[in-house]
Amino acid sequence: MSSYRNQSAKSNRRDFFKKAAAIGFGATLGGLSFGRPRTAEGQIALPKEPVPVRPFGRSGVKVSSLSMGGMFDILTNRLMLAKALEWGVNYWDTAEGYGGGRSETGIGRWFSRNPATRKQVFLVTKLSRRRGDDFTPRLEKCLKRLHTDYVDLLFVHGIRGIADMEPWLESWSKDMKQAGKIKLFGFSTHTNMEACLEGAARLPWIDGIMFTYNYRLMHEPRMRAAVDACYRAGIGLTAMKTQGGGPVMSGSASEIEMASRFMQKGFSDHQAKLMAVWEDQRIACICSQMPNLTIMATNAVAAVNQTRLSRSDHAMLARYARETRSDYCAGCGRLCSEALANRVPINDVMRCLMYVNAYQDLELARITFNCLPAQTGALLTRLNFSAAERSCPRNLPIGRLMREASVLLT
Ligand code: SF4
Repeated sequence: MSSYRNQSAKSNRRDFFKKAAAIGFGATLGGLSFGRPRTAEGQIALPKEPVPVRPFGRSGVKVSSLSMGGMFDILTNRLMLAKALEWGVNYWDTAEGYGGGRSETGIGRWFSRNPATRKQVFLVTKLSRRRGDDFTPRLEKCLKRLHTDYVDLLFVHGIRGIADMEPWLESWSKDMKQAGKIKLFGFSTHTNMEACLEGAARLPWIDGIMFTYNYRLMHEPRMRAAVDACYRAGIGLTAMKTQGGGPVMSGSASEIEMASRFMQKGFSDHQAKLMAVWEDQRIACICSQMPNLTIMATNAVAAVNQTRLSRSDHAMLARYARETRSDYCAGCGRLCSEALANRVPINDVMRCLMYVNAYQDLELARITFNCLPAQTGALLTRLNFSAAERSCPRNLPIGRLMREASVLLT
């Protein structure tokens, strides 16, 4: 922690710009430009020291401020996991539902070959209540796939309201802690995040939360207050979806202007969006899907060299967020889904579209879509979404987007 803080010193800032000066526009992933940190010799710039750590709420544990999330089921992931440890990215995030267990199996393969590394890793997995409440046998299966006796943190996956954290989960999590199967317990959420956080701050048995949090949402008064309440309650907070990608490819002129401006300053807009979240010291960690080493290196360099964005940098991000407001689904699913008597989880479908348009990851979109209630696909073309559109504070063209989703995902 202290090493991270010391790095805001001027010399470090200079170093960062020197290293980052070679960052150009690299791979474009769904409209997000990922700067590739390259040295003058054309090699990828690598983090010179481990990613800094931050306290995870009241747990007494420090976690890397950058977490690797997503799929770990391909051969090259062995190299990814090795590099993650080398660069100090020791918070690994997976879920029972990622690839039908293949993500957990990939991590388990790593631990079976490298058992000594298990204690270095803060390992997180998730169980979804949409698949049922038979958590005990399913947790056992997760542990078997992960090749470990315990996870450091177990999330209930993707809750839509604090009512999903029913009282039985409190006693169940206590039992699992006593049995040594989990160390910490909490939930993840992409939906109605503010209400979920407000409720969690009143539940002393919630240790951690992973939630959608980015430059678009972090300045909203209700979000600020909810984050503050959880922080004061000692809940460890992990931010996800920090790039603020939406279900619509914006193609906004200000996106190019913003990217050019940050490039001149020595970092990419992708890194700037991470840096904006890291500036919030209440956030312990950013969980990022890093599908290749270049993106992991880019993120790790930004994490090590956290330079504070200037006032005008923040103004640029805010302007971009304003101009693309109607391209971004803010997860307030209670509003639009209730307008249709909760028949379609609209913001979850929006998230699938975001995986297609912002991540260009059709497979992830389809996997996520297949976890939604079975009738969702059929309803996308049958329902009239006018009432939902009237309830949307961002004026998203919900009907058109649901029909697009039907073509892409069903
Ligand atoms: S579609 Fe609109 S109302 Fe529904 S979750 Fe997204 S932003 Fe909120």
